[in-house]
Amino acid sequence: AAQRVPLMAGNWKMNLDHLQATHLVQKLDWTLRDAKHDHSAVEVAVLPPFTDLRSVQTLVEGDRLSIRYGAQDLSQHQSGAYTGEISGAFLAKLGCTYVTVGHSERREYHAESDETVKTKVAAAYENGLTPIFCVGEGLDVRQAGTHVDHVLAQVRAGLDGLPAVKAASIVIAYEPVWAIGTGEVATPADAQEVCAAIRTALAELYSGDLADRVRILYGGSVKSGNVAAIMEQGDVDGALVGGASIDPAEFAAICRYRD
Ligand code: PEP
Repeated sequence: AAQRVPLMAGNWKMNLDHLQATHLVQKLDWTLRDAKHDHSAVEVAVLPPFTDLRSVQTLVEGDRLSIRYGAQDLSQHQSGAYTGEISGAFLAKLGCTYVTVGHSERREYHAESDETVKTKVAAAYENGLTPIFCVGEGLDVRQAGTHVDHVLAQVRAGLDGLPAVKAASIVIAYEPVWAIGTGEVATPADAQEVCAAIRTALAELYSGDLADRVRILYGGSVKSGNVAAIMEQGDVDGALVGGASIDPAEFAAICRYRD
């Protein structure tokens, strides 16, 4: 994983209003500064609710912070009669770098299909955003032992028709649904098995060179106490962190997993 810069991305889910968001980002920045964190060695990003983004942008741009940010979802449409939806164009204007696409909570509670996820990946690129494309199996699939096939089918569906020039910058997050918010973390070997299979699939779909460049994150109950062992795996290039990312000291410790 030497040539890939690890990414620690905090998915706040539906937590923290815009005032709390400002406090968290400030505390995170101070903590990382104190530790002399090198953002070019381990990239740090937060993914707040939509309504926080303008405040986070003001703070990050105004104080020239190195923390990056993005959104948790976007519409597959550019504009128009889609009440309640948020366009990738709006997110780009707010300085977002990333947008999560196909998180398991969107797939489950908003019935997002592989087809929807594919159009959202394309919509992210259309607006210059980098998708953090989420895949992962439920407990039933894991117990049946077909998790690798299941995840690779999601990967192929989400990338269908995506040209290499775009796919080269994608971030893929492997998040076994049974490990999200449950406190049950996959073993480092479990995470490595699926992340390695995703990389092999990228090499087949595109090229070995592209597969070597794409960052593949693990997500599911990552904490400061378990992150280092997961990051030791050769095909794990970072973490998508939910619950532990809304505590700035804990998230900073995750970002500092090498200490
Ligand atoms: C997530 O929501 O992407 C996630 C991994 O959550 P948690 O870290 O809380 O399991």
